[in-house]
Amino acid sequence: MSDIIQLLPDHVANQIAAGEVVQRPASVVKELLENAIDANATNIQLIVKDAGKTLIQVIDNGKGMSVTDARLSFERHATSKISSAEDLFQLNTKGFRGEALASIAAIAHVEMKTKRDDDDLGTLIKIEGSKVTEQEVVVTPTGTSIAVKNLFFNIPARRNFLKSDQVEMRHVIDEFQRVALVHADVSFSLYHNGTDVFNLPISNYRQRIVNIFGGKTNEKLVPVTEDTEIVAISGFVMKPEFAKKSSKEQFFFVNDRYIKSSYLNHAVSSAFDGLLKEKANPGYFLYLQVDPKTIDINIHPTKTEIKFDNEHDLYAIIKSTVKHSLGQFQIAPILDFQRDSSMDTPYSYQGKNIANPTIEVDRSFNPFEADQKGKSMSGGGIPKMSFKKNNDSWEGLYVGLESKMTHDSIDVSTIEVESEEVTGAFFESDEVVQEHVTLQVQNKYIISKIKSGMMVIHQHRAHERILFEEFLQHITVHQAVSQQLLFPVIIDVTKEELTFLNDIKSVLEHTGFVLSKLENEAIEISGIPAAIRNEQVAFIISDLLACVDESAIEDDSLHATLVAKSMAKSIAIKSGKPLTKQEQEDIVNRLFACKEPTITPTNKSIFITYNTNDFDKKLL
Ligand code: ADP
Ligand code: MG
Repeated sequence: MSDIIQLLPDHVANQIAAGEVVQRPASVVKELLENAIDANATNIQLIVKDAGKTLIQVIDNGKGMSVTDARLSFERHATSKISSAEDLFQLNTKGFRGEALASIAAIAHVEMKTKRDDDDLGTLIKIEGSKVTEQEVVVTPTGTSIAVKNLFFNIPARRNFLKSDQVEMRHVIDEFQRVALVHADVSFSLYHNGTDVFNLPISNYRQRIVNIFGGKTNEKLVPVTEDTEIVAISGFVMKPEFAKKSSKEQFFFVNDRYIKSSYLNHAVSSAFDGLLKEKANPGYFLYLQVDPKTIDINIHPTKTEIKFDNEHDLYAIIKSTVKHSLGQFQIAPILDFQRDSSMDTPYSYQGKNIANPTIEVDRSFNPFEADQKGKSMSGGGIPKMSFKKNNDSWEGLYVGLESKMTHDSIDVSTIEVESEEVTGAFFESDEVVQEHVTLQVQNKYIISKIKSGMMVIHQHRAHERILFEEFLQHITVHQAVSQQLLFPVIIDVTKEELTFLNDIKSVLEHTGFVLSKLENEAIEISGIPAAIRNEQVAFIISDLLACVDESAIEDDSLHATLVAKSMAKSIAIKSGKPLTKQEQEDIVNRLFACKEPTITPTNKSIFITYNTNDFDKKLL
């Protein structure tokens, strides 16, 4: 038999390697911007068309390349940045693998123009799928311009895998920001489809952050500085009251390189302990300088994670530095070390009026009355018994129900909110039950009597389901009732959040929101859905903005579900809220008028049932 192993031709090897480096347009943006920085450019322009699917062009005024270098730059493992493995430990450039241009050229049409300052004429090179198609001498300014067109033109499967323009553009902007935030001494601009998205003049860190995240950011920043043997830290944290649910404004840079580190992120969060609302993430822009020998950036192909030699020390230094800054700027009392933090007012109570405790007496309570069986349990809670969940066939629990309920997945166009006449029937039994007997346990569950025994309903989840279906119906049939606000609510947003809000604007309006202005750094809301209160607006929007990242939003048709889900979750009554009898009954009734009363929009069970037969067996 003949030998079967052969060396892959270069263009095939390059195409395979490209898969590692180039996942999407944003990967190309990252590589080209980093090359421009490594070439000491002081002005960098990024031009994209169709979120980079059609064109990504980076023009820099850096040092440019000679004819030979220009040609060589597209070879694999061709780099001017390291010459031996030892160099890896004293890197001060972003690139070092010499793979990026080769990979990009393997899967796109690339056109490069480059000229060094000392040369009179520059070089033009065109490459398609690793093959040089043109090379000439050209007149071009000092620096390099690389245009990458028709990404993945020769790998249709990869091209089809790309997400919507909105999503891809969001990734492009992320990469752009990560580079721009740490190179304030370089001016950057970004144009997308002919419009100017960012225009960032040379400035300092603070000004750069403000130019990217909006004018209101300035007052939110608390400076952080520390200089130790291990690390020099500078940058800013955001005042705790501006913490957002999304983690979009969290940036670590190590030696001018953006990195992700959940460990160090934890160090910052823990410095904010007790200062943040539930689930809020502190914003920060922290620039660390460490000895390059103490890090290994080589562990991740796209290089956003790095390994530190002295991670634990870094953790402690970051935590105490951030804490100190917050204290210095009188955001947290730090000097009083003896303070017992358990005496602090919990965040959710701060600024609220103190109400005298009241005692509620249920005058109708009679432990000997048969109908009150459920109630008499409230003291000891529900005994722990392993009854079978019966959610799948919950309809069977009620009499006379068969025709009304279906389990079909929700078809939004046919949502009808069926009400009392149906639910009345669910709970009617041969015994004379005028009203549904309900009971609230631990301000969290509603117990309801049913024909076969009882049902324990999770109040928050039930309400979430009810609101979800209501909102979805409003959005679908455009019948929401809106209440005009006397004083419009203004909410600060970043550019990216604004894009997202623009995407979902029509859906939001169908729920009853009136978005009177969507401007550069703020939105103005002058009307809100009838179902929500004025003071809920800000956190409903902030919950929604936390979905910016969610993959669901890449499909336009999912916007309605996304908005309905998020709003329902935000305003559904919480566990822990005492409910009146009327409210409990209302929830039970409305829940069972829902299309899908058994599970929440995020697929959590809403109730469980207990059968009296089970009681009988257990209590033999
Ligand atoms: P790496 O950045 O890892 O060295 P690349 O494939 O990104 O690998 O680039 C290869 C080489 O091409 C670089 O080492 C550099 O010498 C040269 N180069 C790339 N982009 C530019 C640029 N914008 N200006 C000047 N030189 C560049
Ligand atoms: Mg590079």
